[in-house]
Amino acid sequence: MTLLSSLGRASRSAPLASKLLLLGTLSGGSIVAYSDSNAEANKNEDQQLKKKKVVVLGTGWAGISFLKDLDITSYDVQVVSPQNYFAFTPLLPSVTCGTVEARSIVESVRNITKKKKGEIELWEADCVKIDPVNHKVHCRPVFKDDPEARQEFSLGYDYLIVAVGAQVNTFGTPGVLENCHFLKEVEDAQRIRRGVIDCFEKAILPGLTEEQRRRKLHFVIVGGGPTGVEFAAELHDFIIEDITKIYPSVKELVKITLIQSGDHILNSFDERISSFAEQKFTRDGIDVQTGVRVMSVTDKDISVKVKSSGEVISIPHGLILWSTGVGTRPVISDFMEQVGQGGRRALATNEWLQVTGCENVYAVGDCASIAQRKIMGDIANIFKAADVDNSGTLTMEELQDVVDDILVRYAQVELYLRSKHMRNINDLLADSEGNARKEVDIEAFKLALSEVDSQMKTLPATAQVAAQQGAYLAKCFNRMEQCKEQPEGPKRFRTGGHHQFRPFQYKHFGQFAPLGGDQAAAELPGDWVSAGRSTQWLWYSVYASKQVSWRTRALVVSDWTRRYIFGRDSSRI
Ligand code: FAD
Ligand code: MG
Repeated sequence: MTLLSSLGRASRSAPLASKLLLLGTLSGGSIVAYSDSNAEANKNEDQQLKKKKVVVLGTGWAGISFLKDLDITSYDVQVVSPQNYFAFTPLLPSVTCGTVEARSIVESVRNITKKKKGEIELWEADCVKIDPVNHKVHCRPVFKDDPEARQEFSLGYDYLIVAVGAQVNTFGTPGVLENCHFLKEVEDAQRIRRGVIDCFEKAILPGLTEEQRRRKLHFVIVGGGPTGVEFAAELHDFIIEDITKIYPSVKELVKITLIQSGDHILNSFDERISSFAEQKFTRDGIDVQTGVRVMSVTDKDISVKVKSSGEVISIPHGLILWSTGVGTRPVISDFMEQVGQGGRRALATNEWLQVTGCENVYAVGDCASIAQRKIMGDIANIFKAADVDNSGTLTMEELQDVVDDILVRYAQVELYLRSKHMRNINDLLADSEGNARKEVDIEAFKLALSEVDSQMKTLPATAQVAAQQGAYLAKCFNRMEQCKEQPEGPKRFRTGGHHQFRPFQYKHFGQFAPLGGDQAAAELPGDWVSAGRSTQWLWYSVYASKQVSWRTRALVVSDWTRRYIFGRDSSRI
C-alpha cells in the first residue's frame, strides 16, 4: 500500500478534526496530490449481481430519511431527483426575508450519502413516467439547455420508493400561476426575497403617486395555514426591524394582508393557538381577513369574494404569496391512472406503505396517503380467529390472545379508546351498566367495535410524517430477509399466519407556529399548548437539533446570531 493510499483511507475513516490535521500536515510538506484508493473496485461481483435494485424517487424529507437509515450493503440503490440536495423546508419562510441564508438550509445529497458504507448512485433528473408492469421508471435529466445531457433514460427496479412530494395547488383560480409567488422550493424563497426588496425600491422612485406607492407596498398572503402565517410574521419583522429604517419615506404606506377562506387562521392547530395568533397579528397591524375566497388574480389586483355577504372586492397588491395547500404532481396522477386510483389527491397505500395493487412499489411522504383498513370489514374474521374453541362466543381469555394483534393492526382502536378515556378493549366490551362481561357473542362484539372506525384519520402532509415513513421503510428493508423467515407483524385475520412487518405507526411530537417578534406558539404532546418568547427559544433549539448535518446546524445558528447582531441584509442580489 502506498503512503498516499493509506493516507486516503485514513482520511475517510477519520473524524473532521483529524482530517484537518492531516490536510495541514500535507500542505505544510508541500504535497499537492490527492489519492482516492477506490475501495469499491474490490466489490464482490457475484454478490453485487444478487443484490436487489432499489430505485428512490425524490430527495426530500421522506427520500432522505429512507436513504439515511437504509443498510445499502444489501441493496443496489439508485436515486432520481431534480435536486441534488436536501432542503430543510420548515426554515424556508426564514429564507424569504434573509433571517437565514438559502445555503444554510440545504445539504448536498452526495454529502449525506457518502457517509454510508457502499455506494448510492444519484441522477439529477425528473421521473416522467412510472411503468409498474415492466418494473421501470423513465427519467429526463434536468439540463434543459444541453442536448447531450438531456437524453432520457430508464431504470429497472425490484423495489421502487416513490417520494416525490407534492406541488402547489391553485385550485384552478385564474391568474394565480402567472401572478403569485409560491413557497415550496428554495428558489421560491429566494425569488420572494428579491420581490420584497423590489417592491420597496420601486415604491421610492420619483414620479409615482401615493396610490401607486401604496399598491407596491401591499403584501397579500393567501392561505392562513402554517406557511402563510409564518411568512406574514417573518415579513412583518423584516419590515419593522430592518426595512423601514432604510426606506423611512414610505414606511407609513406598507400593509400586510392575510386572506383565509375558513373562519380562523391556523385551523389545524388547537383553537387557543389560532386565537393567540389572530390577536397577535391584529396588535401587529397585520390585516387578517377570514371567510374570504379569492376569485382571480391579475398583476395589479386580487379579486376576492366575502363569503358572508357575497360581495366581490378588488384589492390592489404589490406582491402575493399563494400558500393554500398541496396538489398532485403529474407523474403521480399518471401513475394513479395506471393502477386504478385515478381522481385521488395522493397515492393510496396500505399500512405498510405499499401502493395498493403494486406490491413492490412503496409511496411515502406528501405524495402518499395510507388507506387504513376498517376493523368492521374484518370483524367476522377477527371473531373467528379469536374463537379458538369454536364455541360461538369469545371468553376474555380468548380475547386476550388477540388484543395486541388488533391494537397493532387497526391503529384506530387505540385512538378510539383514548378518545373515550378507556384503558383497554375489555372496557369497550363492558355491558350497558359498565360491568365487565365473561364472554361476548358476535353481535355484542360487532356492536362494541362499531364506532371505532370513526377515528380513522388521514395523516397531515408534514415533514414529520414524511421523515417517520422514510425511516420506518428503511427499517423494514433492513430486516426484509430476516422477517420473511420470522414475521414480526400482527396476525393476518383473514388469511392466517402473520404479517411480515408491523404496520407503520405515526407518532405526533407536536407542531410549532412562529408568530414573529420572537414569539411562537406550540402544540406539544399530551395536549399541551404553549405560546410566547420561551416557546420561540424552544423552536430555536428543536429546529437546530433537527438539522440534517452539523454543517447546516452551524450555519443556521450563526445566521440567527448574525441577524440578532447586524439585522437582515436587504441587498437585492
Ligand atoms: P419533499 O420534501 O417535497 O421532497 C420531494 C422530493 O422529490 C424533492 O427532492 C423533489 O425535488 C423530488 N421530486 C419532485 N418531482 C420529482 C420527479 N418527477 N422525479 C423525481 N423526484 C422528484 N412540515 C413540518 O412537519 N413542519 C414544518 O414546520 C413545516 N414547514 C414547512 C414550511 C414550508 C414553507 C413548506 C413548503 C413545507 C413545510 N412543511 C413542514 C411540510 C414539509 O416540507 C413536507 O410535508 C415535506 O417536505 C414532505 O416530504 P416529501 O419527502 O414527501 O416531499
Ligand atoms: Mg370461544
